[in-house]
Amino acid sequence: MIDSHIHADTRPFEDFELMAVSGIEGALTCAHDPLEMTSSDVVMAHFRRLLTVDPERAARNGLKLYTALGIHPRAIPRDPERVIEKLPDLLKNPSVVAVGEVGLDSGSEIEKDVFKSQLKVAEELGYPVIVHTPRRGKADVTPQIMDVIDGTIDESMVVVEHVNMEVLPELVETECMLGLTVQPEKLTPEEAVEILREYGTERFVLNSDMSSAPSDPLSVPRTVQRMKMEGFSRSDIRRVSDGNIRDLLKISPI
Ligand SMILES: [Zn+2]
Repeated sequence: MIDSHIHADTRPFEDFELMAVSGIEGALTCAHDPLEMTSSDVVMAHFRRLLTVDPERAARNGLKLYTALGIHPRAIPRDPERVIEKLPDLLKNPSVVAVGEVGLDSGSEIEKDVFKSQLKVAEELGYPVIVHTPRRGKADVTPQIMDVIDGTIDESMVVVEHVNMEVLPELVETECMLGLTVQPEKLTPEEAVEILREYGTERFVLNSDMSSAPSDPLSVPRTVQRMKMEGFSRSDIRRVSDGNIRDLLKISPI
C-alpha cells in the first residue's frame, strides 16, 4: 500500500511505525503551509526539511517516503518567482517524484499565476502534479482549477486531490487521477468506498492527507479493509491503494 498524500513534517515518529506495521510500504509527502511563508527563504527551508529529515525518520521505521515539492496556494511568499526558478533543479533530487501540492485555495489572481507557472515547469520537465482543492468553496474553485490546467498540462499527469460528491460528476469527465482523502473532516472510509462503488477504481487513489489537522495515519488500510469486507476484487483494491499512484509517479514496487 502507498498513502498517496501526507505531510510527514507534521507527524510524530511513531506514526511511521504504525503505518509500516499496517502494511503501508510508502507514502508521498507534499510541500504545504506549515509556517507563515513570508519569503522564498522560508519555503526553501521547508523543502530542505522534506528532503532530509522526514525521509530519514520514515526510513528508520521501514517506510519509504517520496517527495512532492511546490508552492501551496496558502503558502505563497512575497517572492514566489525565486522558488519557481529553482524548481527545475530541486526536482532533480532523486526522492522528488512530483510537483505539489499546488493549486488554488481562494482562487485569487496571484494563486492562479503561481499555480500556472508551476504547472508549466512540471509540463516541460515531465513531472506529475498533485493539485489541492480547498475545503471551503470547493464547488466554485474546482472549475477554476480545471481552467488553469486546461491547455497548460495534460490532464493525465494530474491528481486532483480531496474530491468529494460535490465535484465528482464534473471531474469524472476529465482525464485526471482523483484523490480520495479519508480524514475525520473529509471522507469516512465508508464514503470513499461508496464513491469507488459508484465510479469504479480506474481513476482513484487513496490517501490520509495527514497533517496537523485531525488525521488518521491508517486511513488507507482502513479503507482497504472496508473494500475487502464489501467484496471488492484484489485488483480493484490494489489499483486504488497502490497501482494507480505507482504508475503515475513512475515508482516501482518496493
Ligand atoms: Zn495536503
